[in-house]
Amino acid sequence: MSLHARKIRLIMNLRRAGITSTEVLSAIEKVPRELFLPASFHDQAYEDQALPIGQGQTISQPQIVALMTEALKIEKNQKVLEIGTGSGYQTAVLAHLSRRVYSIERFRSLSQSAEARLQELRLHNVTLRVGDGHKGWPEQAPFDRIIVTAAAKEIPESLVNQLAPDGIMVIPVGEDANEQILVKVVKSEGGISCSHLADVRFVPLVKGTLPDQEDRELPQGLEQA
Ligand code: SAH
Repeated sequence: MSLHARKIRLIMNLRRAGITSTEVLSAIEKVPRELFLPASFHDQAYEDQALPIGQGQTISQPQIVALMTEALKIEKNQKVLEIGTGSGYQTAVLAHLSRRVYSIERFRSLSQSAEARLQELRLHNVTLRVGDGHKGWPEQAPFDRIIVTAAAKEIPESLVNQLAPDGIMVIPVGEDANEQILVKVVKSEGGISCSHLADVRFVPLVKGTLPDQEDRELPQGLEQA
């Protein structure tokens, strides 16, 4: 089956799984997921699964990307903050739906590969930064929407502070890889309200920045799983 046919099958499966937003489905359709994966995984690009992207990290499962993106209810004029650029796949989906995406990644090597892919796709409304996402991006705050794609021990207060009034944040929370929940946080004048979207499994949101020797570019095909 061609990659195109597999992509159509994936979109139909997402629809069947309850993703109803045509904007979200069409953004997912526009992004070639294979471009965000090592060559050895291209044939699996449209399977509904998480896959390795190097540095021990993973590209999220399409159904989770769709669920999180839909929960954000992004409007075209909005400014979005993403924590955990990873491959840049979720970033690309967000870029199709919003005015501008700011995305922070801990690994310089992953951020650089993501930047090259986003350039190749001519998605120019994206700004990437290397650093610890726990701190958010104070110079660009407030954000209408915030998405965190690694599991936090608790909801970081600095991110809540950088959320605009009526802002929405989606974040996986949990100490244990087997007990994480995806939380939707809505900010209003009275404070924040949280709701539970799904049980999930993400790599951890790690505190602090990395020494350079742990963050070198890995040759294609030799990525750590
Ligand atoms: N959205 C990504 C998923 C990447 S997995 C994609 O579509 O490919 C989560 C990413 O979060 C990893 O790349 C990991 O390195 C990064 N990460 C973990 N802790 C972080 C932190 N404190 N600050 C920024 N990025 C972090």
